[in-house]
Amino acid sequence: MRSISLLGATGSVGTSTLELIRQSRAAWRVEALTANCNVAELAALAREFEAKVAVVADESCLDDLREALAGSGIEAAGGRAALCEAASRPVDITVAAIVGCAGLGPVMAAIDQGGTIALANKEALVSAGDVMTAAVAKHGATLLPVDSEHNAIFQCLAGNAIEDVRWITLTASGGPLRTMSMEELHAVTPAQAVAHPNWSMGAKISVDSATMMNKGLEFIEAHHLFPVGLDRIRIVVHPQSVIHSMVEYRDGSTLAQLGPSDMRVPIASCLAWPRRMETPCAPLDLVAQGELTFFAPDEERFPATRLAREAVQAGGAAPATLNAANEVAVASFLAGHIPFTRIALSVEEVLNQSAVTCAPTSLDEVLAVDSEARERTSALLESA
Ligand code: NDP
Repeated sequence: MRSISLLGATGSVGTSTLELIRQSRAAWRVEALTANCNVAELAALAREFEAKVAVVADESCLDDLREALAGSGIEAAGGRAALCEAASRPVDITVAAIVGCAGLGPVMAAIDQGGTIALANKEALVSAGDVMTAAVAKHGATLLPVDSEHNAIFQCLAGNAIEDVRWITLTASGGPLRTMSMEELHAVTPAQAVAHPNWSMGAKISVDSATMMNKGLEFIEAHHLFPVGLDRIRIVVHPQSVIHSMVEYRDGSTLAQLGPSDMRVPIASCLAWPRRMETPCAPLDLVAQGELTFFAPDEERFPATRLAREAVQAGGAAPATLNAANEVAVASFLAGHIPFTRIALSVEEVLNQSAVTCAPTSLDEVLAVDSEARERTSALLESA
């Protein structure tokens, strides 16, 4: 029996993870399940999976959680410190699936225990970058990438030397708005932006896919996970999302990982690593698929990948600033306050206003950059 904690249990990745746990229930002991404030769902999951502790990040939801768990014997906790305490409990694997930089503290708490972390929460790695990878090295933790592209690269790198890599190619579906003109993009509604053609995901990452910021964040994520050098990581638009990413070696061989567009596949790869496990996913049918196509990204209409590349090249506080500005702008777009095209524009404005600063060297410094960039982005959007 293996033990697991799931941070962000009520979300899209969390739900997919629990589906896999459910299919081999006897093989798993669930330690902690967390959410922000979705008390009903969290309590139902905690009861079903007999979690030891359930945590809501939003402390104002704790009384409701206590009530929902009354008589179950499951510990209820709330607030940021409780989230980090739950994440630091020793388990065989922690799935980090909180959305946004809000997941950074808990991920770092799990890393500090030297555990194995299946990382979906890309914003945490983008913001903390070297602070996180240094903590992983210091504590002997293991980071397994859940993101389908990085999971694909991880698989393609197995048994090879990173020095032999010529290119890492991140594939991008291009999102639901890939073929729209600038005028059409300006008028895009939140409902259109979250309607991803291939993947079913939470609202924030769906908007990131539509702006291509998701690929920008993934570019930075790949740089930290697979240190081949920024000039060896490239992005190719592949609308069918069948090839999840590729690694080309110096002898001219390219290895690709293919699979259905279903997050249960990369999640299963992490849960079973270094072995494999069954999933209920439909097998890949290449004949039914028919064709696979590839395009260069269009950074005129979708400037986010350029912004991310420039931010990671600039270094210092720029990646954390990019991420924070994007989180605020996406929330504002989803709330109907700004047009779609304003998301990338505001990220660029905030980055341009930022003084060149040294790279943060601790979790507190990363969080300070994050919080300051959020304030500046909110002020910018309010003044517009
Ligand atoms: P969702 O929005 O579906 O779920 C987010 C989860 O985080 C929920 O459990 C939510 O709780 C919790 N949460 C939200 N805000 C906070 C907060 N401030 N503090 C603590 N917990 C919080 O997101 P996804 O599952 O789509 O994505 C999760 C992460 O995985 C993201 O970083 C995303 O980029 C990454 N990812 C997602 C993929 C996908 O297919 N969805 C694919 C690859 C990566 P509550 O329900 O209470 O709001």
